[in-house]
Amino acid sequence: MRIGIDIDNTITHTRELIYDYGVKFNEENNIPATCISDGYKIEDIFNWDDKLAAAFMDKYLINIYENVQPKTGALDVLSYLQRNHEVFLVTARNKYHPYIEQTTLKWLEKYEIQYDELIMNTTTNMHHCSKLDTCMEKKLDLMIEDHHDISLEISQQLPVIMFDYPYNAHVKAPNIFRVKNWLEAKTIIDKLAKTRSA
Ligand SMILES: [Mg+2]
Repeated sequence: MRIGIDIDNTITHTRELIYDYGVKFNEENNIPATCISDGYKIEDIFNWDDKLAAAFMDKYLINIYENVQPKTGALDVLSYLQRNHEVFLVTARNKYHPYIEQTTLKWLEKYEIQYDELIMNTTTNMHHCSKLDTCMEKKLDLMIEDHHDISLEISQQLPVIMFDYPYNAHVKAPNIFRVKNWLEAKTIIDKLAKTRSA
């Protein structure tokens, strides 16, 4: 199969690290550190305005992309997928900021993640983009994601394995398979591959 895989919060524990850096940022700027929601965006989690969120990203985004940890089982399953399928990493990390591309490439190399193609965000939005066009263009058979709206949109056209998070808890669709870890994801991928080859 041709499998699309998101990076942040799918392969990696990005959310946890963003939260840790967010607490640090609050301390440094004497902002009362109150986590106010399970939201997806950092500004929603800490109730920051756009200016604060931008200052945080300027200061810590690169550290986050450098130091983020892979999830348990992610590296083993990715290696298995690369040997048995075609792997397309599809990320909303923005290609127009060269340090983001370089840091991402370096991180993938550090963890010896093999893939057929890395497709980055080429829109003017720094952190978000639709991935449906990429899925269609690359003729993907399956996408692995965590983002609520991206998963929903893609699921109109192809199956999506969605990593469970509080911010996507409301999402339910026939073509979306919710998983808690990479072992569960692998089981579903194997089943889908079997169905396709039957
Ligand atoms: Mg993600």
